[in-house]
Amino acid sequence: MSEPHDYGFDTLQVHAGARPDPATGARQVPIYQTTAYVFKDADHAAALFNLQEVGYIYSRLTNPTVAALAERIAALETGDGAVCCSSGHAAQIMALFPLMTPGCNVVVSTRLYGGTVTQFSHTIKRFGWEAKFVDFDDLGAVKGAIDEKTRAIFCESIANPGGYITDLDAIGKIANDAGLPMIVDNTSATPFLCRPIEHGATLIVHSTTKYLTGNGTVMGGCVVDSGDFDWSASDKFPSLSQPEPAYHGLKFHETFQHLAFTFHSIAIGLRDLGMTMNPQAAHYTLMGIETLSLRMQRHVENAEKIAAWLEKHDAVEAVTYAGLKSSPYFDRVAKICPRGAGALFTVALKGGYDSCIKMVDSLELFSHVANLGDARSLIIHSASTTHRQLTAEQQIAAGAAPNVVRLSIGIEDADDLIADLDQALNKAAS
Ligand SMILES: *Cc1c(COP(=O)(O)O)cnc(C)c1O
Repeated sequence: MSEPHDYGFDTLQVHAGARPDPATGARQVPIYQTTAYVFKDADHAAALFNLQEVGYIYSRLTNPTVAALAERIAALETGDGAVCCSSGHAAQIMALFPLMTPGCNVVVSTRLYGGTVTQFSHTIKRFGWEAKFVDFDDLGAVKGAIDEKTRAIFCESIANPGGYITDLDAIGKIANDAGLPMIVDNTSATPFLCRPIEHGATLIVHSTTKYLTGNGTVMGGCVVDSGDFDWSASDKFPSLSQPEPAYHGLKFHETFQHLAFTFHSIAIGLRDLGMTMNPQAAHYTLMGIETLSLRMQRHVENAEKIAAWLEKHDAVEAVTYAGLKSSPYFDRVAKICPRGAGALFTVALKGGYDSCIKMVDSLELFSHVANLGDARSLIIHSASTTHRQLTAEQQIAAGAAPNVVRLSIGIEDADDLIADLDQALNKAAS
């Protein structure tokens, strides 16, 4: 695969990053279940440790199975490099780590995965970092929140839990004008539905736990680097532009150019934070990703059908799916995610909190779980679970009010899913 970007998406999802195994000819990517790699000689070892030569040292940093997955995700996102890590939440820390120092902040959307709101509003403060939460539909407020200590802008392309769609072009322009990288969590959209780099993203984070693996088996995350941000244009990113004491004064941007972020994330981030993906997890995700486009087409087809049906149901007050003409974000679908608005949305019930609980407990085919992006259809009452740690104000801003359930529509027969929803809604309303 010398020029991976020449191939179409369906070809890349099967082939990118994978070559027949040089030792055995194995066609599928082997699970390199090893922690360490034998050096050719002492000089080879020294060159690897000095970053003068690229190769395998120890699986906390790099592993061939994990590397194949990173290369595949980078190709699907049209990025120059990628680093896989142990979970989506790890990927978020890995994305911010090279950019931030104590006292710095990141401007973030209020519409985010519940766990991300918690990570950003509490945990990152322990590092001396701050997240400034802003309504990303208010472009003036986004601009106004940027100050001299801002190091990045963070949002989700299709945002949890309501399926809200961010105007990535507008946010990307604000980031670009301010000389800042835009980081996009593309978990809910996947590169099949949305390519954030085409809308100005510098970094993309994924929870590979979700659609990329697609079967609810393993945890994982990934950070993709577009490779086109100039880290040396200002003095804001010293970890990438200034001499690194842990590598004898090496300057990552000067030395590795468009791969500076990726090399830093491996050589410093994985080395010292240790949020490493294991080769078994990479294997499951490589299996899943081969069918990504096929699954996403069915996810979207089912979600469109089910959202339209739910909107007409007597027990339903509102459906947030951006693929519906009634959605205020319908016009953004063609621009941001032209192949569909994903398969994640919320439903507000007329019966409020109690009806939501009854509906969740009455469903048979839908599983009540804290997950999304599975082949199976899933449901959760966000306010009492994933968004429980949030204040009432934060819950409403995030689209997770108490009278709302979140659906993650799977790839089953849509008619079976509709029948299950119908019986549960009728029980919930009675
Ligand atoms: C699940 C999820 C995360 C966190 O990923 P984990 O793999 O669970 O750590 C982050 N962002 C979004 C949009 C998610 O759906």
